[in-house]
Amino acid sequence: MSSQTLQAIRGMNDILPADAERWEAFEALIRDWLAAYGYRPIRMPLVEPTPLFARAIGDVTDIVEKEMYSFEDRLNGEQLTLRPEGTASCVRAVLQHNLLYDGPKRLWYMGPMFRHERPQKGRYRQFHQVGVEALGLSGPDIDAEQIIMCARLWDDLGLNADGNIKLEINSLGEAEERARHRADLIAYLERHVDQLDEDGKRRLHTNPLRILDTKNPALQGIVEAAPKLIDYLGENSLRHFEGVQQLLKDAAIPYRINPRLVRGLDYYNLTVFEWVTDALGAQGTVCAGGRYDGLVAQLGGKSAPACGFAMGVERLMALLEAQNAGIDMPAPDVYVVHQGEAAQRLAFRAAEMLRDIGCAVLTHMGGGSFKSQFKRADASGAQLALVIGDDEAAGEQVTVKPLRVEAEQRRVALDDLADVVSDWLYGSDEEFSEE
Ligand code: ATP
Ligand code: MG
Repeated sequence: MSSQTLQAIRGMNDILPADAERWEAFEALIRDWLAAYGYRPIRMPLVEPTPLFARAIGDVTDIVEKEMYSFEDRLNGEQLTLRPEGTASCVRAVLQHNLLYDGPKRLWYMGPMFRHERPQKGRYRQFHQVGVEALGLSGPDIDAEQIIMCARLWDDLGLNADGNIKLEINSLGEAEERARHRADLIAYLERHVDQLDEDGKRRLHTNPLRILDTKNPALQGIVEAAPKLIDYLGENSLRHFEGVQQLLKDAAIPYRINPRLVRGLDYYNLTVFEWVTDALGAQGTVCAGGRYDGLVAQLGGKSAPACGFAMGVERLMALLEAQNAGIDMPAPDVYVVHQGEAAQRLAFRAAEMLRDIGCAVLTHMGGGSFKSQFKRADASGAQLALVIGDDEAAGEQVTVKPLRVEAEQRRVALDDLADVVSDWLYGSDEEFSEE
């Protein structure tokens, strides 16, 4: 290469057609799945005022401390941030438009999120989430329903045949319970401060709960023996947690209580959950969420309970690929091969007629022999080829040739084309080869 070519930003991926088609099939499935649970779409901007995230996610979280793409708009001096997650934006939008005025809302969104992390498999700087938020509902029933709906999605995707995605849950209790636990936890960790790593020391007085979540093997002993939040939960918190578990049991969804599951964002309380897999190496959490009853008030709204989760689309797609699960690839129904000027004009008319009846049609472009055009037709995955040469063009006719099964090709008048193709593609009792 003589001159250097431009590259995408590190950690930000192009999604090329073969993958993008898989993503679209995934998205179509997602839409049906969400509709089945009464969730409605919402779309927020990709850029928000920086203070939104500091306030919602918490100043001493990984995201706000070191992962945000924040910058000053040099045209007007505003402090802006590419959204690192969707919950804060979603709640901001709900408050701004007073969406809770007539009762609870079930909302979802899908799109890119931005975090300045070290790129590696399953961890990117632009990645995508499907986010699901229920606002205005306080019972354990909605927490359980959100978990149950995840389980259904794994089934719909063909992902969980052998229990490959496992559910972990925990309860973070309420603020006062966390405060008592926090005091004891800090006292405990202070007694072991010499054994903490740098991160741990830094977090000791800011976000000690996060130390419990450490991936450093050297800290596992200390962390195992640390005071457990669950032992500090009061009656209401315990009842809520048990309510969730009862509904999970009724739905026959296996789970593990992981007392060290704390989540990396500050806004959570009571139920938290993660769906994890071993199949993706270190980046094994495909979906995570929980309750965040304090966030609405924290962002200036009238206090309202809420609960939600987000899944990482890249990780799910990787898992689908690793397991060869699920999604059918789209192919055109018909590929049109043609040669000569009159034939090309007829090809255009025939293709539009077929699109009128709902067919996906790929018209060959760029010329070439019939042989080379048929290669393309084959590779496209189409069921049928239309063949139009001088003969056909002269008689306003089209040859319909099945590509995927042994069957006679057949020459038909343009006027009959839609019927013949529709019978072939969408079914009829008639034998194709019979005249
Ligand atoms: P992790 O512990 O992997 O950093 P997290 O707690 O930061 O995850 P959340 O903020 O809960 O992640 O986001 C929900 C989901 O979004 C994650 O479970 C994961 O599937 C996905 N996700 C988060 N960060 C990234 C990233 N940088 N690249 C790809 N997917 C991501
Ligand atoms: Mg993270």
